[in-house]
Amino acid sequence: MSNSSLLQRSLDAVWHPCTQMKQHAAAVEALPLVPIARGEGVWLYDFDGRRYLDGISSWWVNLFGHCNPRINAALRAQLDELEHVILAGFTHRPVVELSERLSALTDGALGHCFYASDGASATEIALKMSFHSWQNRGFQDKQEFLCLAGSYHGETVGALAVTDVALFKDAYAPLIRPAATVPTPDARLAAAGESSTAVARRAAAALERHLERHHRRIAALIVEPLIQCASGMAMYDPEYLRLAREVCDRFQVHLICDEIAVGCGRTGTFFAHEQAAIRPDFLCLSKGISGGYLPLSIVMTTAAVYADFYHESTSRGFLHSHSYTGNALACRAALATLDLFADEQVIENNRLLAAHLGDCLRPLSAHPQVRHLRQRGMIAAFDVSSDDPAFPQRFYRAALAREILLRPIGNTIYFMPPYVISREECELLVARAAAALDAALG
Ligand SMILES: *Cc1c(COP(=O)(O)O)cnc(C)c1O
Repeated sequence: MSNSSLLQRSLDAVWHPCTQMKQHAAAVEALPLVPIARGEGVWLYDFDGRRYLDGISSWWVNLFGHCNPRINAALRAQLDELEHVILAGFTHRPVVELSERLSALTDGALGHCFYASDGASATEIALKMSFHSWQNRGFQDKQEFLCLAGSYHGETVGALAVTDVALFKDAYAPLIRPAATVPTPDARLAAAGESSTAVARRAAAALERHLERHHRRIAALIVEPLIQCASGMAMYDPEYLRLAREVCDRFQVHLICDEIAVGCGRTGTFFAHEQAAIRPDFLCLSKGISGGYLPLSIVMTTAAVYADFYHESTSRGFLHSHSYTGNALACRAALATLDLFADEQVIENNRLLAAHLGDCLRPLSAHPQVRHLRQRGMIAAFDVSSDDPAFPQRFYRAALAREILLRPIGNTIYFMPPYVISREECELLVARAAAALDAALG
């Protein structure tokens, strides 16, 4: 196998995600696909032995490196026991153990786990469960949802209703029944001298005004706790979550925390919402939960919501399903991932690693075109002031030429490496990103 033969076959047969295929096909030289032969730790290798440091954890899914020996071993063992079994009417050990351990991580507050395969499905499950639970309780008018400006909760038609990213949404507008949006607590919106806490309070006050007027029709507010990742790593103060929880309780509106990107230790605590000392009514997990190995998503909810469906009548039940619900291999990968957290003091080690990443990045804040250098845990980002519409792609290519995989969102450059990155690799990542920045701007 060679790089070039695989590349052409991929262009002929694979429709790649989030991609205008003509940008590859018309100018294979301009934006080449990158064929990957194997991975190890933070590194990806092509067929010619070129390597790339995976600075974005392969779209935010990989926590403990590629081909992690412990997750590999767990999957090999599971392969010889059970690969998959229908979860309606049947059950198996990995799905039971995973549900129990996740529930324990919420101190039992979210004791019921519902399974699917991808993040967008988890969003849709949380929306459907919230709506249906209010219906079962006799709140017939609660048929609408609320999301934050700049939110991202997935791209299926139902999830797009609560996603506020024009590039993904506008083409499908006629198909979508959009949710209302309330202001984002994005700390970059601070006026001169205003703190991030004050921005959070301002946004929470707007939420309160909206719910005062519309709560009778609203089933749930859905948020990405602490960081709105897909719309450009917009970070905000935990105060917003604390206040949102209070306001939602007061107006009988569910709070859905979509921790698909920010869960599993990314922000410095296992769940991001812990930093606001709250619990949501629904918690969506995916991406990192299987260590980046297999598609798996989970919606966790409370005993109160579960009770709304528990009834003699079949139609009062939650009759939602996916073929691969609770896949045994994916659950086993997730258990191995949780074992790594438990055995290797990951949260504590990440604190030191995140501080080092921050130290490496700090000099960049003096760069004349760098704005809003920010970080929470193992996610760091800055915005680049440039009018060049080709800047993001120029940066992406300049980074690849320096063995670095970073994929800007518009003019936001972000770092979201696997937790197994070493201090030296952090230094290399940032130094080469800085060189790529100057090359792309120059
Ligand atoms: C990635 C993501 C999703 C969608 O997950 P998919 O598996 O890509 O469908 C939903 N919400 C958030 C916050 C995400 O980052």
